[in-house]
Amino acid sequence: MADVLLVEDDSGIRSALIRGLAEHGHVVAAVATGAEAITSLSAHRPEVIVLDLGLPDIDGANVLSMSRVLNSAPVIVATARDDEREVVRILDAGADDYLVKPFSVAQLDARIRAVLRRTQAAEPEDATVVVGQLRLDPIGRTAHLGTDEITLTRKEFDLLHTLMLRPGEVVSRQRLLSEVWQLPWGGADRTVDVHLSWLRRKLGETAADPRYLISVRGVGVKLVDPDAAGAAGDAP
Ligand code: CA
Repeated sequence: MADVLLVEDDSGIRSALIRGLAEHGHVVAAVATGAEAITSLSAHRPEVIVLDLGLPDIDGANVLSMSRVLNSAPVIVATARDDEREVVRILDAGADDYLVKPFSVAQLDARIRAVLRRTQAAEPEDATVVVGQLRLDPIGRTAHLGTDEITLTRKEFDLLHTLMLRPGEVVSRQRLLSEVWQLPWGGADRTVDVHLSWLRRKLGETAADPRYLISVRGVGVKLVDPDAAGAAGDAP
């Protein structure tokens, strides 16, 4: 189903994943080190990269940044570390998704299919985006909720646009600060939260009773279609 580059130094896990992913119809190229991953990426173009963070030569997070330069394929990070700060760091470094070890091949296959759906469905940045009743026209800079036009400030519009381009995906505050405000990463800042609360008011919702904008504690925020099946289950 997809050309996968698997980067995993543990030979037991590597062969189990190669076998399992092949059974799910994927074509897998596998390497054991960060250096081999970089070499492979300069010659081949996989559709998805599955990256172990704990590699013997180069830290997986550095491989992640390098892979971003070489290839636009989505990256799913496999990590033994599940602490929140680590997860935020990985997502900020540009990972599309992550799995905490141990995980099953079926879980990995589901994540691969999900990131492919997201990247293949990615709209050009100037196309009108629609999520549920929300509609944003980036060229006309207009926003509608149902038939009502919503008046947004420039930053509110950019924030909403950034989230609407990745429906259902948790976007970290740091990434929003970087993409919407062009602020360097690393600072703790209330800017995002303040703009989110203004945006919520304009969308007629609150943090305590969210509809479109769902905060994920300690990580960031995601935009969902509140009327879609299963969306209610995502609410905290
Ligand atoms: Ca490892």
